[in-house]
Amino acid sequence: MKLRFGLQARFLVAMALVLLVVLVMLGVLLQRQRLVERESEALSSDVIHQLVDGYLHGQGRELATRLADNLANPLYYSDLDAIGSILRDQKRDDLVQYLMVFDTAGHLVHDGSAEIEGYGQPMGDPLAAAATAAAGPHVQATAQVLEVSAPIRVGSERIGGVRIGLSMAVAHRFEQRNAERLRGRIDELSQRHQGWLALMLLALLAVLVAAAWYVQRLLVRPIRQLAASARRIEAGDYSVQDHGDTRNDELGDLVRAFDRMSESVARHDRDVRRMAYTDALTGLTNRLAFRESLDHRLMLLRGSGRQLALLFADIDDFKRVNDTLGHEAGDEALLQFANRIREAVEKYGGDDALLARFGGDEFVILIQEGDVRASATRLAEVLVAELRRPLDIHERQVFLGTSIGITLFPEDASSATALMKNGDIAMYQAKVAGKNGFRFYSRAMDHAVERRVHMEQELRGAWERGELSVVYQPVCRTSDGRVVGAEALLRWQHPMLGTIAPSVFIDVAEQSGLIEQIGPRVLHAACTEAVRWMQLGEGEKLFVSVNVSPRELRRGDLPEVVAECLRETGLPASSLHLELTETSVISDELQAAALLARLHSTGVKVWLDDFGTGFSGLSHLRRVPVDGVKIDRSFVADLQRDPDDLALTTAIIAMAHSLGITVVAEGVEKESQYNLLAERGCDLVQGYWLSHPVSASEFTHLLARRMR
Ligand code: C2E
Ligand code: MG
Ligand code: MG
Repeated sequence: MKLRFGLQARFLVAMALVLLVVLVMLGVLLQRQRLVERESEALSSDVIHQLVDGYLHGQGRELATRLADNLANPLYYSDLDAIGSILRDQKRDDLVQYLMVFDTAGHLVHDGSAEIEGYGQPMGDPLAAAATAAAGPHVQATAQVLEVSAPIRVGSERIGGVRIGLSMAVAHRFEQRNAERLRGRIDELSQRHQGWLALMLLALLAVLVAAAWYVQRLLVRPIRQLAASARRIEAGDYSVQDHGDTRNDELGDLVRAFDRMSESVARHDRDVRRMAYTDALTGLTNRLAFRESLDHRLMLLRGSGRQLALLFADIDDFKRVNDTLGHEAGDEALLQFANRIREAVEKYGGDDALLARFGGDEFVILIQEGDVRASATRLAEVLVAELRRPLDIHERQVFLGTSIGITLFPEDASSATALMKNGDIAMYQAKVAGKNGFRFYSRAMDHAVERRVHMEQELRGAWERGELSVVYQPVCRTSDGRVVGAEALLRWQHPMLGTIAPSVFIDVAEQSGLIEQIGPRVLHAACTEAVRWMQLGEGEKLFVSVNVSPRELRRGDLPEVVAECLRETGLPASSLHLELTETSVISDELQAAALLARLHSTGVKVWLDDFGTGFSGLSHLRRVPVDGVKIDRSFVADLQRDPDDLALTTAIIAMAHSLGITVVAEGVEKESQYNLLAERGCDLVQGYWLSHPVSASEFTHLLARRMR
């Protein structure tokens, strides 16, 4: 951690400064105290000295006067014994160093000793002269002694004197003893004083430590906690707990405000993440999140020997919903789809399954439980079945389907990118194979996709190369079971690619615009063929019905093209039926109505193909002048299972009949279906049960057989 001059450091420095100032002041105080002590010591010794001095003088004078009085008689009578006893009495005092009694001439009479060494001799010491000469009590001093002398009188006559030497050394000792005692007292006092000071210093230190602790608890710690929380939030960790601060002060306010703020930031972050990782329409995981999860799971699975499957589901012809019903309906359809897929995935996908919408009409499912190939197959089957059930959108029934591509890890690829590409390819192959189904990815598909890219190129010269042909599927009348006509259906037999489904190449032709060249050729071929049928039989006129793509319709010159074709081939207009898809007609009702009117004027009949899948509704029939409707094979397939389909089919038939419109049912695969339709009054039927689409020559054979 980087060291810095933080709040706590600042506070500690401030405290240290305060402590320093206090210490300096204390030092000065102590020094001053020491000085005062020393001064008072000097002063006291001075006073003691003066006291002792005064005492010595007083004592000496009093002693000298008293002795002079007491010695007057013995000296008068020269009673040496009495004088000696008085002096010896006094000499017992330590203070008294010497005692001398002298006569008027200054000769020593007694000194308190037994032998009286200098008796009768003049006193030779330096102080003697002044003592002898003094008329009254006299004090004089040397370094060693303080001498007090007094004259001895009898009456007014002076008969001698007494000298008392008081020892300065003894006085000095006394003085010293007292001074020492005083110093001791002062020392004791100052020690007690210092003790108090130390105690106060300690108290101050304790206060400072307590203040530091309080500041740390009150300010520094919460602020540091806030800073740490802020740093964690900055790093993206929003799991910061509520500080739960109940403090009722400014910092408490700050902490609470911070908690609220971090909560709102976390919420915001969650929202942003949710937005970034979920699909806004369906609420499912989006591409980004799915990709991240896939990468993560692959990382965990690598080397574990476990498998994973991706299912890419794409709604067939979803564009049609948007084009014909609007985007709102498209969104509704997607939502319903998403719900069905979700339910299926929850049921059959296992716990680890992940469902995502990749935008548009593409959904991706990840499963990784158990035998993924088996589970993927089952899930795909369920999905295909579930998603082909009609949707109810804005009170219309919408029929859609799904194509699903499945790819497996690690068989097909080990990287997420490659897996996603494979899934896409497999899904595409499912579409190519006729939609509403599923395909597992195989390496051969890579090649197939390239082929699809070149399909358009290939298709360009296909007619000239003779790869395209027209087959005919008989259409029968229910009333007597006779073949009354045939639908012309285009086939493409590619030398390399084999048979290509019309649902695939018609799409390519439609998108590339090639249909505008191919369409008229089919029309021409069909008309030519129909003319031949007429020549073949004498009986009823047979019709041929030809599919017209939305693009051809949009060009607007269809009536002219048809008229031209009829003229060239010589087919009566009434023998030609045009099958227009419902969706291409309803996308622009007005224009369609005008076009249909022009078509009618050429004398041809117009049928609405795939009726029921384009959600136009029955009322639509009133506004668009058509001669017939072809009920889509998806209805026919479910006729017996789904009562709704039966009801709708019955309604279509009744409604069409009330409008004078012919009803054709396509995709009749079973006798029961045929019977049911015939029973409900369906006019014409077409389907594998009656005949598969057959080549032109086969169809003429078929006709010939029937006529015999
Ligand atoms: P469509 O016009 O609805 O054609 C009927 C389709 O149903 C044909 O598929 C036919 O083979 C199939 N079919 C007939 N009976 C049954 C049955 O009993 N069961 C089942 N499951 N299917 C049956 P096909 O030939 O694959 O054509 C698919 C679509 O391609 C046609 O649907 C049509 O929209 C388009 N198409 C085919 N030929 C042409 C053409 O020359 N021009 C244009 N514009 N479109 C064409
Ligand atoms: Mg058709
Ligand atoms: Mg059809």
